[in-house]
Amino acid sequence: MSYSKQARTTTRRIRIRRIRVAGLLIVIAAIAAALGHQLLASSSSTAASPVDVLRSEHRGLRSEHRELPSEPPGALGEADGAVPDGTTVFDDEIPGVANLDPDLLAALRQASTDAADDGVEFFVDSGWRSPEYQSQLFREAISEYGSEEEAARWVATAETSAHVSGDAVDIEHFDSTEWLSEHGAEYGLCQIYSNEPWHYELRPEASDHGCPSMYADPTYDPRMQQ
Ligand SMILES: [Zn+2]
Repeated sequence: MSYSKQARTTTRRIRIRRIRVAGLLIVIAAIAAALGHQLLASSSSTAASPVDVLRSEHRGLRSEHRELPSEPPGALGEADGAVPDGTTVFDDEIPGVANLDPDLLAALRQASTDAADDGVEFFVDSGWRSPEYQSQLFREAISEYGSEEEAARWVATAETSAHVSGDAVDIEHFDSTEWLSEHGAEYGLCQIYSNEPWHYELRPEASDHGCPSMYADPTYDPRMQQ
């Protein structure tokens, strides 16, 4: 390629780029003008602009799911069952602990007292939950796992969750759940689902007969069928 040919090619490329930039600016200007018009229209007249229609559709969607909280994740606090770090089964002032079934709580406290002799302390990851909190967890699970069916393998709905009724506790840390898998049955504390080694419920008959065999995951639990 000769020098002059190369220079021509370069010039043409620059020109094409300039034309593209100019085209882009025209498009941006057009969008800005349209948006400006819509903003004017929505503020100065009662006619529904496309923006207004979108907004009202969004509101309609929200009101259809009115039973679900509209706050962002994290807005639900201790009163709904959120449990601060370091909470133990003895923390009566934490609603997530205090609202557990009294028999389950008594069994947990007895087990925790005995586990302390083995140098193991129970920490509560989650206990009782309000229906609103459970619904939020279920919605988060749907967005994480991609479908209601898959989410249901990990998180129950507010209607079916044993956490909402105060009958389930999630215990933190491997040493605690290992201790419970070995000794929990003596206290009626049983792991219910194979895929949730942290989730314990009270099965009083377990102290005599051992814990019932586990479900692979919550979807096999008849209680989870609505
Ligand atoms: Zn659980």
